[in-house]
Amino acid sequence: MSGKKTCLCCGYVTLTSEIHDICEICYWQDDPSCWDDADAVWGSNGISLRKAQKRYEENCKLDQTQDFNQAI
Ligand SMILES: [Zn+2]
Repeated sequence: MSGKKTCLCCGYVTLTSEIHDICEICYWQDDPSCWDDADAVWGSNGISLRKAQKRYEENCKLDQTQDFNQAI
């Protein structure tokens, strides 16, 4: 059983069943406090879920316009 969960921020199934797991796609840290309130700022994320989603979307746009062949 993989027991993976969908990341609330980016929508990919990246999280393990453990609470406070960090998404490897968008780096959102899963936090039960955010499940009911996307505008709440809790824990180590430091930003609300809604802002994190916006940040992820903007990063996606950047990814599409930049050449990452030389990354890392
Ligand atoms: Zn994510």
